[in-house]
Amino acid sequence: MIGQLLAPWSPFVCLKRNIKLGKPTSSQAKSTIKSSLLLIVDPELRDEEKDRVWSYFGSACGYCGRKLNRAAREGHVDHLIPVSLGGRNHIGNRVLACAACNGNEKRDLPWEPFLKSKCTTPDAFAARRARIDAWKAHFGTDDLQLPPDVLAVLEAATARVFAAYDAAVEEVRALKNKMD
Ligand SMILES: [Zn+2]
Repeated sequence: MIGQLLAPWSPFVCLKRNIKLGKPTSSQAKSTIKSSLLLIVDPELRDEEKDRVWSYFGSACGYCGRKLNRAAREGHVDHLIPVSLGGRNHIGNRVLACAACNGNEKRDLPWEPFLKSKCTTPDAFAARRARIDAWKAHFGTDDLQLPPDVLAVLEAATARVFAAYDAAVEEVRALKNKMD
């Protein structure tokens, strides 16, 4: 009904379309808000930065050494320090990885013991660790994790949006109750 009253480009019409595609819950909405604010200070890699990661790691997994076919979308640009532990999207915190090393196997493990578990010889471990260390050293330590003061501002801004969102949900729920 509302859709018929509003112009097709109205944000509410677009929102209604999105809602039809899935079931956005309050926690999904909050997670989208949080990541959209985070991406402002910690943007995803640009294409040319992804090219640089592929080239530096010689189109091979930085952990297990498996050769990767980029055209077949085999490689992933993994995070050395996982995002869940405050790792940044910055190129200095990224390593080329195969699907197995990027996925379930590594999870939130620190990269060094994980790398060791993927190397069959001490020489391979030393060489791959040196490659990752040189990559990291090329960038600053601030490139690996967001500084605490930035995180504090981000957290406060996110909390303010969440509070406003919760209040809006209450308001609209009350409206819905009146409609029923
Ligand atoms: Zn691998």
